[in-house]
Amino acid sequence: MDNRKAILFSAPSGCGKTTIIRRLLEYFDCFEFSISATSRQPRSGERDGVDYYFLDTEEFRRRVDAGLFLEWEEVYSGTCYGTLKSEITRIWDNGHVIIFDVDVNGGMNLKRHFGNDALALFVMPPSVEELERRLRTRGTESEEAITKRLGRSVEELKQAKNFDVVIVNDDLDTAVQQVRREIEQYLGL
Ligand code: ADP
Ligand code: 5GP
Repeated sequence: MDNRKAILFSAPSGCGKTTIIRRLLEYFDCFEFSISATSRQPRSGERDGVDYYFLDTEEFRRRVDAGLFLEWEEVYSGTCYGTLKSEITRIWDNGHVIIFDVDVNGGMNLKRHFGNDALALFVMPPSVEELERRLRTRGTESEEAITKRLGRSVEELKQAKNFDVVIVNDDLDTAVQQVRREIEQYLGL
């Protein structure tokens, strides 16, 4: 198999990207997660260099100015997220397929960059009401942050048509199975 490939997951916050990716990383040992940089604070349990590279805003800007990002977005006002170019080299040099978890604009930018070397998956919630319920149940954001995330999701959901595959994450096991099938087909496994 040609490992210089990437699988990218995009969706509004709360649709289940992280949950699905965790399951895939347990299943496929040739995959490695692209650790993004962010200027947001770590959530409880999140580790620097594992979940994200947590940077303060000044350091994030410095790296933007130095051209170290392949893509970056101010996903929520005042909070930036981005893919460092060094992640691509690190993971491909390890002989692994890259897994990205990025917002919808980031997903479209990465797909443009990688072309046929990336499979772009869009994770849909079964409904906006269920998305809201999941964000609240996750309990990791303030009320203000939840409102921001839900507000942004309306526009993001309209972009699903620009992705290679749309997965509706209603029942988790079914969604994971569908994702696995799509990936196996794409990579010829
Ligand atoms: P994202 O990474 O897209 O922001 P998460 O993976 O953090 O989303 O999922 C948001 C919340 O929804 C989490 O609490 C997660 O456990 C829950 N969740 C994910 N998928 C499902 C599902 N199919 N059914 C019910 N809850 C789910
Ligand atoms: P969270 O704060 O919930 O971890 O992530 C918020 C949003 O930022 C999610 O939609 C997530 O996919 C996105 N995100 C995480 N890393 C990156 C990245 O490197 N680039 C872009 N464009 N978005 C990212």
